[in-house]
Amino acid sequence: MRMKFCPECGAGAVMKDIGDEGMMPFCPDCRKPLWDSFRTCIIAAVVDEDGEFALLRQNYVSSEHYVCVAGVVKAGESAEDAALREVSEELGLAPVSVHFVRSYPYPEKDMLMLGFRVDVRKGGFRLSKEVDSAEWFMPDKALNALREGSIAYRLVRKILRSADPAADVSE
Ligand SMILES: [Zn+2]
Repeated sequence: MRMKFCPECGAGAVMKDIGDEGMMPFCPDCRKPLWDSFRTCIIAAVVDEDGEFALLRQNYVSSEHYVCVAGVVKAGESAEDAALREVSEELGLAPVSVHFVRSYPYPEKDMLMLGFRVDVRKGGFRLSKEVDSAEWFMPDKALNALREGSIAYRLVRKILRSADPAADVSE
């Protein structure tokens, strides 16, 4: 989100030429550049010891496609802890490990999604009220359950391709 006002003093932003950034909003009173603001969120691909993916459904998002666990990073919380917390809250599964995979900008929603793989012990779900249903998918079925091109789809695809070193810098 482009800043129209300074979040510290409330002054209206003016446009100023800031080095490599070019013209950008600037607070004339605090004399600070007003960088675009966005929310830091996590998205987690949840994988069990058999390589199956736990995907969930939230009817307010889509009644057609499954999604991955996702949520907002709280102030003072690491992104890893946010991923572990969301997996526990949304699915009721016990995480074993967490690994950063890739980040995905989501400019339509003013978000930066940090993508993680969270390994869990296979178990029954204990769903949060925000989740309508969840299911385990074999690796070859997981992508079909996700909306093609979505961040969840790209994250799961990247994990599936992770054995291929040539795919390392791909989305
Ligand atoms: Zn200011």
